[in-house]
Amino acid sequence: MERRPLLHIRGSINTDEFLDDSVKVSPDCGKVLSAKYESLDYDVCENSLLLEEERRRGYPYILRMGISRWLVMCIIGAATALVACVIDISIDQLTTLKYRVLKKFTDQCILENCLVTPFLLWASFNVCFVIIAAICGSCVEPVAAGSGIPQVKCYLNGVKIPRVVRIKTLLAKAVGVTFSVAGGLAVGKEGPMVHSGAVIAAGVSQGKSTSLKQDIGIFEYFREDREKRDFVSGGAAAGVAAAFGAPVGGVLFSLEEGASFWNQSLTWRIFFGSMVSVFVLNLVLSAYHGQPGQLAYAGLLNFGKFDTLNYDWLELPIFLCMGGIGGLLGAFFNQLNYKLSKFRMRHIGHRAWMQVMEAMIVAATTATAGFIMIYTIDDCRPIGQDPNKFSIQMFCGDGEYNTLGALWFQTPEASVRSFFHDPPGSHHPVSVMSFFIVYFLLAIWTYGLGIPSGLFIPGLLTGAAWGRLVGMGLSAAFPTAAWVDPGKYALVGAGAMLGGIVRMTLSLTVILIEATGNISFGLPLMITLITAKWVGDYFNEGIYDMQIGLAGVPILAWEAPPLSRTIYAPQVMSHPVITFSPVEKVRNIVNVLKTEVHNGFPVVEHSSCDSEELGRSCGRLRGLILRSQLITLLQQRAFNEEPALLSRHIAMKNFRASYPRYPSIREVELKEEDMEHTIDLRPYMNPSPYSIQHNTSLPRIYLLFRGLGLRHLVVVSDSNQVVGVVTRKDLARFRAGHHRGQSGTEELLISERV
Ligand code: ATP
Ligand code: MG
Repeated sequence: MERRPLLHIRGSINTDEFLDDSVKVSPDCGKVLSAKYESLDYDVCENSLLLEEERRRGYPYILRMGISRWLVMCIIGAATALVACVIDISIDQLTTLKYRVLKKFTDQCILENCLVTPFLLWASFNVCFVIIAAICGSCVEPVAAGSGIPQVKCYLNGVKIPRVVRIKTLLAKAVGVTFSVAGGLAVGKEGPMVHSGAVIAAGVSQGKSTSLKQDIGIFEYFREDREKRDFVSGGAAAGVAAAFGAPVGGVLFSLEEGASFWNQSLTWRIFFGSMVSVFVLNLVLSAYHGQPGQLAYAGLLNFGKFDTLNYDWLELPIFLCMGGIGGLLGAFFNQLNYKLSKFRMRHIGHRAWMQVMEAMIVAATTATAGFIMIYTIDDCRPIGQDPNKFSIQMFCGDGEYNTLGALWFQTPEASVRSFFHDPPGSHHPVSVMSFFIVYFLLAIWTYGLGIPSGLFIPGLLTGAAWGRLVGMGLSAAFPTAAWVDPGKYALVGAGAMLGGIVRMTLSLTVILIEATGNISFGLPLMITLITAKWVGDYFNEGIYDMQIGLAGVPILAWEAPPLSRTIYAPQVMSHPVITFSPVEKVRNIVNVLKTEVHNGFPVVEHSSCDSEELGRSCGRLRGLILRSQLITLLQQRAFNEEPALLSRHIAMKNFRASYPRYPSIREVELKEEDMEHTIDLRPYMNPSPYSIQHNTSLPRIYLLFRGLGLRHLVVVSDSNQVVGVVTRKDLARFRAGHHRGQSGTEELLISERV
């Protein structure tokens, strides 16, 4: 059922143009919002139960909460680091195993007729590993597929993505990403760390897990959306910090890409969590690599040490141009990936077996492409020039190794390091160019498969490849110039490429500075990344926003669309509004909850304008009650006529007990005689919900929703009569639109079919 037809267009564009024919047939791609996503509740319901609880607990309780928040953040940091270590060590073990087996065959392979066995072996290893990854990401837990950054971003924006922060999702993610990286796909393990950190944060802060059916009974007072959200921001930051060894970058990532809500004390706590995460990861990985206590492994992705990263001011225009190239290539990457995702949605959908098949085909293609390149391009270098762990002799003479073999067989992280640190002359331009083209296309195909996978590494690696090419070109052009260092250009290219795809500037610059440990190179990186973002934004959105748009998630942007001040509350709100009286009949409540899907209902004092229809009436606003609260009240039998009610006290803990998954109204057992009872909603409702006058403009409503994280906003008349209600979806429908050089406000369709 289409809830709301396309109404009208503001600004200078016609939405019909946006909805091409295919979209009208199947409203599933990009320009339609899904009705299925519910919002999180960031507004505190200050009802009399909460006030009573606060009075009873007093100041010591506030203190305890404050200390617990720091403690929880510390545990989140440590646990995120441990998960990162487990993933890293497993990948290390699996790739080493694969490499050992393969090396035996490839090193003997100097003559061409021995090609088939190592190829088949390599392809079978990869396909088997990828099958496990695909099962995790498409059968076990589909929400674990991809990097998870778009999902975490939506969650932090206030949209409840089902199952996104469950332990089962974390398990599928961790196992899946281990096998997709070990399976040799063009993916990284860094992006998924953001999602893993978020799940750990949600689990630890709640002291219970639905997947494991465990309730430890601690941190009960954090069982509300607002507290959980803050911890999830911290978990995402700890994930980035562990991935790149970049605690400040983690905090800034959470701020720039994730969190929609922020405050000063949260910054401190998140920074603390990120620091703990980097420290624990370093401790464990150093011990694993045989240097306990030396703290030499700051992050999962180690860029290696750059001895010098100097630059001449004359190079700044070169960095600017590289930023432009990164932006263009990033926009191209996103556009192709978008088209492919649309194709996948139409033809593969949620069919798990097809997702597994596609992943297998990609794995086999990746292996074949690598092998063909190693076979056809002759790029042998003497061993020792690059003391590479995975040096493969394949088709090369004694004392030599195959550079392309090394690039394909080692982990992509190690390949990034090769481009950064291999001495000048280690690679042939033809091999780097062909590696770039093939890896770039494979990365486009791979991102969006039903496997847990990250985008940071493919972005960095392809960028490092073309950056290295730029460096090689420059050193050929200026053979005597001291400033030409191919490794430096590989770093700039890596930043430009990733910036062009994900469009992060601040956090990515800081992540790169922290990962290379070189603060003086910050300016070139920043110039490159900002240029990449500007150029990329001219063509399309960042990849995460594209994915969010494709899923139809009603996310709210930072600001209202431009030129929307002439849109007023009546054009945005829903009416008539379904309301309840302060003392309401149980039968009415049950009927409304069964027949309507809404999650919030204004409580009104009836006045003369009562309509005949059940529940639908206007009246003076007295409060707002949520579906979850009504269900708890019915479950607890908070009926006025219930003799036990006077002696039995309904408290906040009853409302927290089922958080976050309240039963549906059909699961509440009520007898026919209960239906005649009444419930006094006044002690439980939010007595001072945010409301607006009917002449409020869209940007002001937007500001309230964004600033306060609202779920429902009541629209009232001059005499405080309820005339409408605005929710996130009503607002998210209005979006800034750019089309063929024109821009304005477009209005999307809301559909339950997406
Ligand atoms: P959410 O899904 O964000 O938790 P919700 O379920 O209450 O909130 P939506 O799903 O956003 O609301 O609402 C779908 C439509 O129903 C929106 O257009 C909204 O304005 C409208 N709506 C919400 N609550 C009421 C209500 N009490 N009476 C009438 N219409 C409502
Ligand atoms: Mg809803």
